[in-house]
Amino acid sequence: MTAEIISGTEIRKAILAEVKEEVDQMKEKHGKVPGLVTILVGSSPASISYVTLKVKTAISLGFHEIQDDQPEDISEEDLLALIDKYNNDPDIHGILVQLPLPKHIDDKKILVAINPDKDVDAFHPVNVGRLMIGGEEAIFHPCTPAGIQEMIVRSGTETSGAEVVVVGRSNIVGKPIAMMMAQKGVGANATVTIVHTRTKDLAAHCKRADILIVAAGVPGLVKPEWIKPGSTVIDVGVNRIGMNEKTGKAILSGDVDFNAAKEIAGKITPVPGGVGPMTIAMLMKNTLKSAQYALK
Ligand code: NAP
Repeated sequence: MTAEIISGTEIRKAILAEVKEEVDQMKEKHGKVPGLVTILVGSSPASISYVTLKVKTAISLGFHEIQDDQPEDISEEDLLALIDKYNNDPDIHGILVQLPLPKHIDDKKILVAINPDKDVDAFHPVNVGRLMIGGEEAIFHPCTPAGIQEMIVRSGTETSGAEVVVVGRSNIVGKPIAMMMAQKGVGANATVTIVHTRTKDLAAHCKRADILIVAAGVPGLVKPEWIKPGSTVIDVGVNRIGMNEKTGKAILSGDVDFNAAKEIAGKITPVPGGVGPMTIAMLMKNTLKSAQYALK
């Protein structure tokens, strides 16, 4: 039996439509819209392309969007002053600082300067703590883990009591998604195991997963025989495994042997078109939540 494909592209479309509808209602009821500022320092082509996509998406949803481009040589002090300005701007609900920053600027110092209630990336230690506490405290979840959980829920996968195995323990994916799945609440209540490079028998852990979430960054790490028949497999890995000579674009693959795994799993995400497209949708959702929170 071939697994059902969980399409991030389709789910993103649905989420953005829902966000747009809520923005329209907010405008009608309160005369306000979510405000997002994207701060780009320097001119790295990759950063420009990420920022452009975020700006375009925010505008398409009717957000108040400011793209604040700063020169490569901006001082740390001036960047902190800029963040302070947006922290105090009531029309701005989300502040994004595109990483990486130039070497003379301390990333951590910048990220902790963002008001946690406007930290829509959810990387601020206060938001990491809120995520740990769970429930109402956690206003924002970091965008990639939030996208993963949304895909699990919208694909109709039962999480309550499920065995979840997370491969990888990074601060941006592995640790937060593991904590989110273990919390009390919808799309959670799971029994969670985190595995990593020091885990003794990776295969044995993966084999008992009802939901297997793989975020290692190693192409083909998860073999088809490690997958429990009928399980849900979420492949977060994005690995460049070559170049398409005709289009000049990178050929991407996940951490799971997709073609073989889809014959065993019940549901599976593809790469590309799986978790990747979800991140930006969750960023927009976080900005909406922040604006709704500010209106309370
Ligand atoms: P990371 O910081 O490099 O962490 C990778 C984790 O995987 C580490 O905890 C590492 O274990 C573990 N790991 C690596 N090789 C392993 C192996 N052979 N066996 C068991 N565990 C292994 O990576 P990340 O930032 O979490 O990203 C992971 C992948 O997800 C990457 O491919 C990245 O491109 C992708 N990603 C996608 C999105 C998206 O689609 N929106 C967002 C973020 C990341 P140790 O801790 O023991 O070293």
